[in-house]
Amino acid sequence: MQTSRIQVVGSGLVGALTALYLGKAGYEVDLYERRPDMRRADIAAGRSINLVITDRGLQAVDRVGLKERILDITIPMKGRMLHDVSGETTFVPYGQTDKEVINSVSRGELNCLLMDAVEELSNVTIHFEHKCQSYDIESKTITFTNGKTVTADVVFGADGSFSAVRRSMMDQVHNFNYSQDFLEHGYKELTIPATPDGDFAMGRNYLHIWPRENYMLIALPNLDGSFTCTLFYPYEGEESFENLQTKEDVVGFFERVFPDALAVMPDLVEDFFANPVGSLVTVRCNPWRVGGQVCLLGDASHAIVPFFGQGMNSGFEDCRVLGDLMKKHQTGSSMDWSTLFSEFNDARKENADAIADLALENFVEMRDKTADPLFQLKKKVGFELETRYPDHFIPRYSMVMFHPEIGYAEAQRRSLVQDQLLTRLCSNISSPEEVDWEQADALVKEVLSSPRAQVGV
Ligand SMILES: Cc1cc2nc3c(=O)[nH]c(=O)nc-3n(C[C@H](O)[C@H](O)[C@H](O)COP(=O)(O)OP(=O)(O)OC[C@H]3O[C@@H](n4cnc5c(N)ncnc54)[C@H](O)[C@@H]3O)c2cc1C
Repeated sequence: MQTSRIQVVGSGLVGALTALYLGKAGYEVDLYERRPDMRRADIAAGRSINLVITDRGLQAVDRVGLKERILDITIPMKGRMLHDVSGETTFVPYGQTDKEVINSVSRGELNCLLMDAVEELSNVTIHFEHKCQSYDIESKTITFTNGKTVTADVVFGADGSFSAVRRSMMDQVHNFNYSQDFLEHGYKELTIPATPDGDFAMGRNYLHIWPRENYMLIALPNLDGSFTCTLFYPYEGEESFENLQTKEDVVGFFERVFPDALAVMPDLVEDFFANPVGSLVTVRCNPWRVGGQVCLLGDASHAIVPFFGQGMNSGFEDCRVLGDLMKKHQTGSSMDWSTLFSEFNDARKENADAIADLALENFVEMRDKTADPLFQLKKKVGFELETRYPDHFIPRYSMVMFHPEIGYAEAQRRSLVQDQLLTRLCSNISSPEEVDWEQADALVKEVLSSPRAQVGV
């Protein structure tokens, strides 16, 4: 099909990157965003203030030449710094090498950088303050809330977890499957400001975690010396947001469970009552596309909880796979969008489902297990197995964060087998030195094939 113009709805992180991939492939692209231009108006970029970009996301932005520009605005974090109730800290590294780091980045700055890059292309136009109301499949028409309409042969819905494009598909496609599951926890963002000298109040290159079994506080560094903290806490119940109503409640709670954090949070009370409690949702749907006409990507098709830091990264990976498939299905100036969307849907859906599950599991790991000695022992033995059998054993966290060549679904399958193996090796021992390496050798060869032989998207 000869494509005249392509319409992308949503100029968030994934929509902007989608427009870049399409623009660089030579298409005329219109990118529609409901908000004003955040580079000119003083508006928040929505949701979390900062987030983690990992190798999957970096691989996707590298394909459009943006990796170095983005790394320039990040802070690498080499592991978790766990804070116990007495303020004692324990460092748990993410990987074994200096390269195995994850990167903290401001959501707003990243989105602005992507939009700047979009506008460097003369064939892509961003239309701000254009909120999509609906998309009519039969007439191929997008209607905006300002009354405007545009006809579109090919539409990408990148309008986030409450997508209007997806809602339109639900209304019009008879076999559209959809589920949305909210966690019983919400989240609230708080701040640890830079010290009066402009320094970081805690170690800079760490993701700080205060794990407290059913809830947790985390902190990610920002370039200005501050940290953005996020409290993940139940909405209701004895220990919950509903029981933090007064200044005394909040300060008392922090004194009791996060005393060392409280000591560096002079604005806690103001922040606490000024900032909303956000919800955490997992969205699954299928199909993600209608013929070669409309396709969802990013949170619009697979919103997940943030505990593996992979929502945006998996959305960026969607863009990378889209780019690969565009090359595959281009014949001269013609593109077979129908086959492309079908392959895209098939390739991404099982991976999206896998990372949704892994993210939910990682919440339990972060808030509860990280402080558990058996968990820390398994981590150490896992690293040792990786050193001894680099072609067979890669820890689950590493597969997700540092190995984009292993799809999420494959990482999920392998990590189940690996965890059973670790459980056997770590039963009745208290240090990696006590591992029975003969048994380990036999088990690894018996149950683990080489992940490097299997490439997933
Ligand atoms: C607390 C928290 C922490 C997180 N941390 C991480 C992390 O560390 N790492 C990570 O990878 N992910 C993280 N995520 C997930 C990440 O935020 C999302 O996966 C990512 O923002 C998805 O990008 P998107 O472009 O698909 O959707 P969005 O970021 O939601 O962008 C959608 C865009 O579409 C626009 N839009 C919406 N509706 C319409 C409409 N009707 N018409 C036109 N425009 C519209 C919106 O204004 C927005 O610009 C986190 C999420 C939360 C809640």
